Amino acid sequence: MKISVDAFERACKVELIIFDVDGVLTDGKIYMGIDGEVLKAFNCHDGFGITNARKLGLKTAIITGRNSPCTANRAREMKIDAVKQGQMNKRNAYKELKAEFNLTDEQIAYVADDVIDLPVFVQVGFRAAVGDAAEEVKERAHLVTVNIGGNGAVREVLEFILKAQGKWDQVIRQYTTVEDLGGDYDLMQ
Ligand SMILES: [Mg+2]
Repeated sequence: MKISVDAFERACKVELIIFDVDGVLTDGKIYMGIDGEVLKAFNCHDGFGITNARKLGLKTAIITGRNSPCTANRAREMKIDAVKQGQMNKRNAYKELKAEFNLTDEQIAYVADDVIDLPVFVQVGFRAAVGDAAEEVKERAHLVTVNIGGNGAVREVLEFILKAQGKWDQVIRQYTTVEDLGGDYDLMQ
């Protein structure tokens, strides 16, 4: 993982994390069936991170250029708070999200992989690039993950943010305490 000197401080302020889909929540591959059905693979480690981030009060959102029922299903399963699909102009979608959540740029993180993400990427307070992101994205990031898109990169970012905010211990505690803490044992990944 590569981080900027102010990455920790920036991560502390984050309240909403926005994900790109292709190349971030997936490895960027699109499986296309003979009838045109599209399949994508999402990662359970990322899912676990998203579930826990939500349980600890962080909001999550998706901005993606493509339009896919696969993404809608996965977002529903992960209880992602807002989904903006078919957004060729990601800047507009970002403006809408900022207004919907009533947040400032400093309170928002974006996880990106490609240059199409840059218009939003350069605006947010905490910029995370997946390990195999385009160089132009990586060089503007506050955090570059070890893992590549679709292979735990999102989990890495969420763990960094939760640790910076002192919340990751709560995640681990619920799995290492013998007594029932009375929490919501939502194992959805
Ligand atoms: Mg992408």
